[in-house]
Amino acid sequence: MPADRALIVVDMQNDFMPGGALAVPEGDTIVETINRLARRFSNVVLTQDWHCPGHASFASSHPGREVYETFDAFYGPQVLWPDHCVMGTPGADLHPGLDIPHAGLILRKGYHKEVDSYSAFLEADRKTRTGLDGWLASRGITDIVVCGVATDFCVGWTACDARHFGLTVSVVEEASRGIDLDGSMARAQRNMDIAGVNVVTMSQLVD
Ligand SMILES: [Zn+2]
Repeated sequence: MPADRALIVVDMQNDFMPGGALAVPEGDTIVETINRLARRFSNVVLTQDWHCPGHASFASSHPGREVYETFDAFYGPQVLWPDHCVMGTPGADLHPGLDIPHAGLILRKGYHKEVDSYSAFLEADRKTRTGLDGWLASRGITDIVVCGVATDFCVGWTACDARHFGLTVSVVEEASRGIDLDGSMARAQRNMDIAGVNVVTMSQLVD
């Protein structure tokens, strides 16, 4: 791949795999595809959802609330999730089958207790930057390819925010999987379309 292009592998962590605390169906079936895809890139970023115990996105932090309910957080609607990806726990570890030793950056997000961060660029308050935009810019990267889980949350939000920072963005279909909660998959596809994100297959990516 050209030097100005990077692969962003989103949240391929144990808790998002079948059997995990917040499983994405078939999340484990894309590991090999992602490994194969990553070998085509010299610039790779891995992200990890990385919450403190008692995080605001956990239903367990809101007495009387149910998992998958939407909560009115100070920054807007927030889906309440099962406890997942608690920092330092095995569920937060990257999937052991990921084989991307040349990844240059592991970016953790969602560690501020009161604010979630689906996006690898901006926290859910839509103001606080993770620093990824600066990392990419300082390396001259203008074009990113995004894959991982979940298409309708962290992958989609990352892809749309990257457009906001002026990047060219492609999401690789067969290297991503979604949850599809109350129509979230269709919503994400619509948002990506509006933002100008290209949804592509691996064979459409030109080295
Ligand atoms: Zn999370």
